[in-house]
Amino acid sequence: MRIYDTARAASGRYSADILLHCLSSLRRAQGHKILGLTTCDIFTRKNDISQWGIFGLGRCPGDQCIVSDFRLRKFKGKMQEFVTNVVLHEIGHNCGLPHCSHDDKCLMNDAKGTIATLYHEQKWLCPHCRQRLVAMLRIPGDMQLALYEK
Ligand SMILES: [Zn+2]
Ligand SMILES: [Zn+2]
Repeated sequence: MRIYDTARAASGRYSADILLHCLSSLRRAQGHKILGLTTCDIFTRKNDISQWGIFGLGRCPGDQCIVSDFRLRKFKGKMQEFVTNVVLHEIGHNCGLPHCSHDDKCLMNDAKGTIATLYHEQKWLCPHCRQRLVAMLRIPGDMQLALYEK
């Protein structure tokens, strides 16, 4: 049995929480983060719903995140862009950024399981989140420019 099989529910979907746990058992260099990519449908618990389907999940802060393209595949021309946005969003969580309600174009918006949020989003952090990230990562002034440019 592969370790990831422990995350498989009877429904055939995978628990993102258990997948994160599997990823955390992998060896990695100090300070490195692990991004898991899967084509399987993943879920987490949300309030009373035990299998709430999601695009991705990341520890906040933490060193592991997981992203699935299962719910994004049907948006053919947009899929790559959406997956990239979810990846950046989950890495944002790993870096300690919570969900953002300051700007609907910010990468850290809560997708709330709907695709509408992904349509608004740009590969961009709003000034509020950007400031938080810089403060948390303690990025020196001369490097901040490099972070903002692209
Ligand atoms: Zn999130
Ligand atoms: Zn924001």
